[in-house]
Amino acid sequence: MARWVFTCKNCFEIVPHTEIGGTLMDYFFPTKPKVPTEGQELECPQCKTKYVYQQNELRYERN
Ligand SMILES: [Zn+2]
Repeated sequence: MARWVFTCKNCFEIVPHTEIGGTLMDYFFPTKPKVPTEGQELECPQCKTKYVYQQNELRYERN
């Protein structure tokens, strides 16, 4: 699986944004999901801190 993630600004753990679907095109040529210009608030699964994240903070992770 691959996914788009943010990095928690508090504990630097991964904050998942979007799981990437099953096609090979998705896997090798991922398109960045849209994040609203005002940002998107997400809660860190590790430390439970909420931050507003921006599009340019998204990164792609293959695992
Ligand atoms: Zn955290």
